[in-house]
Amino acid sequence: MSWLNPRQWAGWMPHGLGQVKPHHFVDILATTWQNRFELPFAWRILNHGVCDGCALGTSGMKDWTMDGVHLCTVRLHLLRLNTMSALDTRRLSDLSTLRGLNGKELRDLGRLPFPMRRRRGEPGFQRISWDEALDLVAERARRAGPRRIAFYLTSRGITNEVYYVAQKVARFLGTNNVDNSARICHAPSTVALKAALGATASTCSYKDWIGSDLIVFFGSDAPNNQPVTTKYLYYAKKRGAKILVVNPFREPGLDRYWIPSVLESAVFGTKLADAFFHIHTGGDRAFINGVLKALCQEGGLDEAFIERHTTGFENLRDQMTAVSWEELKGRREPRGRTCGSLPPSIAGPIPRFSCGAWASHNTPSVWTMSTPSSTWRWLAAWSAERSAA
Ligand code: SF4
Repeated sequence: MSWLNPRQWAGWMPHGLGQVKPHHFVDILATTWQNRFELPFAWRILNHGVCDGCALGTSGMKDWTMDGVHLCTVRLHLLRLNTMSALDTRRLSDLSTLRGLNGKELRDLGRLPFPMRRRRGEPGFQRISWDEALDLVAERARRAGPRRIAFYLTSRGITNEVYYVAQKVARFLGTNNVDNSARICHAPSTVALKAALGATASTCSYKDWIGSDLIVFFGSDAPNNQPVTTKYLYYAKKRGAKILVVNPFREPGLDRYWIPSVLESAVFGTKLADAFFHIHTGGDRAFINGVLKALCQEGGLDEAFIERHTTGFENLRDQMTAVSWEELKGRREPRGRTCGSLPPSIAGPIPRFSCGAWASHNTPSVWTMSTPSSTWRWLAAWSAERSAA
């Protein structure tokens, strides 16, 4: 594996100067500036803390998968929440003065340094002692009773330990009314994944990408939603992986990305997607069926695997044979590149294959995952067997 591969570079302009793209190093400087009065503390959080940004599981600036720095702008943006100083609580004595502030301006006021209370009819909050605050909460909780108590937690900015303690407290109080924003975000995709794959979460890890020959993204903007994925994709490409993207929108971040923790990519950028399949909105189901139809027609299927591991495949094959290309196109099938050009990429002796159904709010994607045909189940099982080979 050579260190430099100019054919994969996004361009020769260092750091993509002048292009519309994330500016990671500017972000790092901005974070340093924002935290300038608490730099040792900020460094200690980054270097020794766990990340409260997402669930990838980092310890300090390392993860358990790859060597090198693990850090993304999500974590940098959250850093200020941990280092900000106490707000001037006099600002809370009359809330009418804060009405014109937006969310960011309100957050920038600072941290709440002690418990405060506002009674109905009062213009603002007044300081109370911790004992008073705890007594008040306890008295209200007792009066409401377990059936009328619920815990709701945000999905970002707190760590796994906070979730753990919250559910312990909820049980201690006798309620099982515990919910969080992550559950609400992912409820549609978990239902669809369960129906299609039998599991409520992804069946592979990012690590599986490194060593895959083919990675297919449907409806995903992975570099934007989770920037660290690009580092895994970079190393996957170094090992020869091809990346295909099926999306109604040509995501710029999947086209090319400047990965700050990889020197070559930080300077010259990396072309990520090898091919885009530009479908119409809602056309992903038709697209997948078109891929299967082409594979059936052109003999790109692993018949031995189908024989060993699938049920009802003949039914699927009959459906794909019966449906015409015109009919598929009528179901808002692809524009531009057609699905017929995907099968040569996935047919034949491909030893490893990762199929990424990104959990997103994109309803058509969720529909695709919940499609009653055995397509997804077949793709997932096929992927699992190929990966294990
Ligand atoms: S991807 Fe970003 S937010 Fe998620 S664990 Fe890593 S540094 Fe934290």
